[in-house]
Amino acid sequence: MRGYKFGKGVISCRICGRHDGVIRKYNLYYCRQCFRSVAKSLGFKKYN
Ligand SMILES: [Zn+2]
Repeated sequence: MRGYKFGKGVISCRICGRHDGVIRKYNLYYCRQCFRSVAKSLGFKKYN
């Protein structure tokens, strides 16, 4: 993630750019909605 600057610590979803509910787990930066679709393709089936 070097070279990326997030304004004042605000993290935005890589896909839709939302700032709320962004998940940083697994070094991923997706909001919940996008994470669900991404998790499926990545094989995270046990996401709570
Ligand atoms: Zn998103």
